Amino acid sequence: MLRRPLAGLVAAALGRVPSDGMSGPRPVVLSGPSGAGKSTLLKRLLQEHSGIFGFSVSHTTRDPRPGEENGKDYYFVTREVMQQDITAGDFIEHAEFSGNLYGTSKAAVRAVQAMNRICLLDVDLQGVRNIKTTDLRPIFIFVQPPSLDVLEQRLRLRNTETEESLSKRLIAARADMESSKEPGLFDLVIVNDNLDKAYHVLEEALLEEIKKAQGSCHS
Ligand code: ADP
Ligand code: 5GP
Repeated sequence: MLRRPLAGLVAAALGRVPSDGMSGPRPVVLSGPSGAGKSTLLKRLLQEHSGIFGFSVSHTTRDPRPGEENGKDYYFVTREVMQQDITAGDFIEHAEFSGNLYGTSKAAVRAVQAMNRICLLDVDLQGVRNIKTTDLRPIFIFVQPPSLDVLEQRLRLRNTETEESLSKRLIAARADMESSKEPGLFDLVIVNDNLDKAYHVLEEALLEEIKKAQGSCHS
């Protein structure tokens, strides 16, 4: 399902999200309930378009999951350190999610933009709203699970959550699904039922930005 503002109708007909008319590639924000498939989709974009995309590595106070690397998936920090950095003005946005702090540092976005790559951000709904008040002007994409039941199954199969954190994530998911209906909040909504299909909708939507980046990227 696609949901776009009126100004995007022509782009919608082409299966693309609207361009803002600026020359460089725009950043891309993926949001959506925990377990919807954002990281899976982002990782595939990074793999299949090597040198085109760069991930904005967020900071978080949550513990790393097995396989997650500090500096690659997140910067895993203490609340004390993160709070100090927030106070120092080092973050574009930050939010409390499921009992932990998450945030996008200015340095994380700059590092990707310095390479002229398309900056990919994975943030919650509070992050979306906060980024809307900045001059980052990204494309906002909501990744939606087919249903809350499927979401719960996927989170259980991922085997990363305690019952407590699972239940917090499902409560947040319900609210996110409602917020995603807000007119103009997202440029595109992708239902991640079949992974290949969802990936191809995402890739198609970003073709214009990918072409821009191909014309100017540095490896
Ligand atoms: P998020 O980053 O949004 O929290 P993940 O990318 O970690 O979500 O995906 C949650 C889990 O669901 C992972 O175990 C992933 O392999 C699985 N998954 C993602 N997309 C699909 C899909 N279309 N069908 C089935 N499982 C999926
Ligand atoms: P997880 O713990 O599953 O990696 O992430 C939990 C939630 O935090 C997800 O909704 C994810 O999008 C969000 N998130 C990750 N990084 C950031 C960030 O830098 N800022 C904000 N606001 N949310 C983030």
